[in-house]
Amino acid sequence: MRATVLHAPGDIRLDTLPDPDLQDDTDAVVRVVAACVCGSDLWPYRGVNAAKEPSQIGHEFIGVVEKVGSAVAAVQVGDFVIAPFLYSDNTCAHCAAGVQTSCVNGGGYAGCQAELVRVPWADGTLVTVPGPVDEALLPHLLTLSDVFPTGHHAAISAGVTAGSTVAVVGDGAVGLSAVLAAKRLGASTVIAMSRHAPRQEVARSFGGDHIVETRGKEGAEAVKEILGGIGADAVLECVGTTDSMKQAFRAVRPGGTVGYVGMPHDVELNVPVMFYLNTGLRGGVAPVRAYLDELLPDVLSGAIEPGKVFDQTLPLDQVADGYRSMDERTAIKTYLSL
Ligand SMILES: [Zn+2]
Repeated sequence: MRATVLHAPGDIRLDTLPDPDLQDDTDAVVRVVAACVCGSDLWPYRGVNAAKEPSQIGHEFIGVVEKVGSAVAAVQVGDFVIAPFLYSDNTCAHCAAGVQTSCVNGGGYAGCQAELVRVPWADGTLVTVPGPVDEALLPHLLTLSDVFPTGHHAAISAGVTAGSTVAVVGDGAVGLSAVLAAKRLGASTVIAMSRHAPRQEVARSFGGDHIVETRGKEGAEAVKEILGGIGADAVLECVGTTDSMKQAFRAVRPGGTVGYVGMPHDVELNVPVMFYLNTGLRGGVAPVRAYLDELLPDVLSGAIEPGKVFDQTLPLDQVADGYRSMDERTAIKTYLSL
């Protein structure tokens, strides 16, 4: 099969590798219909989490089941499926508690920007989309593999509910997804923090009520000003740097919560300030599988169109261009068509 391999920082290639096969009777092999490039793929691409040797990359995909092991019951050959970016048995104590990302049998795939993917614990991991699947839905369905549930996780972690005031730090695909997720949960006011016109446009199409272009202290002040000088009930931190976390805590109201889903890199917290302002921090890596039963119907009905985060579509053999565009921020998110 053809598969995307990171050879060294900045060096993405489409290589020919052996087809993955069933290894355990709980496995499935899925033929990928569409995959995409994630902001977190850019960390190893930039050499921050450097790969020591060439390794397959990518973790978001949708596809059609090609093979199943003898113990697989819920998923059948030919099913169109969404794959959460981590696999899980969906039966252990952590899965039962909605933290499938900590599944005792869980883990990550070998790499999903590829033609075929071996999925361990297929019954616990894959979610079948009732067919026939309309091609126009593919981008929206693909976001359910990671980016939209991650934005949703930020909103859930921050306690967003009907009537909440929300500010979103980060205008990448996750931040934009968080705008949509907050609106879907009934937030009364959502402020997107972005200085890039095309991203502002997506934020508005996702229901964002206000755009704040400034950052840091100034940006937080602008958020407070919009919200009567008080600050946001919930701030969704979708970047993962010390600056973005500081900005989030400056924009949240006393007693409010920051929901964070940006993969943290050297983030420091000011716990004494959190103490005196009773501000909370909750979030982490999104347990996508926990949210799919709730989110999939809204995508199928057309109630939400989270696939608007894709502003570049490339065939798999141009995957290196997709990485370059996302690294240079000329694309919000790249959709890879197979
Ligand atoms: Zn589990």
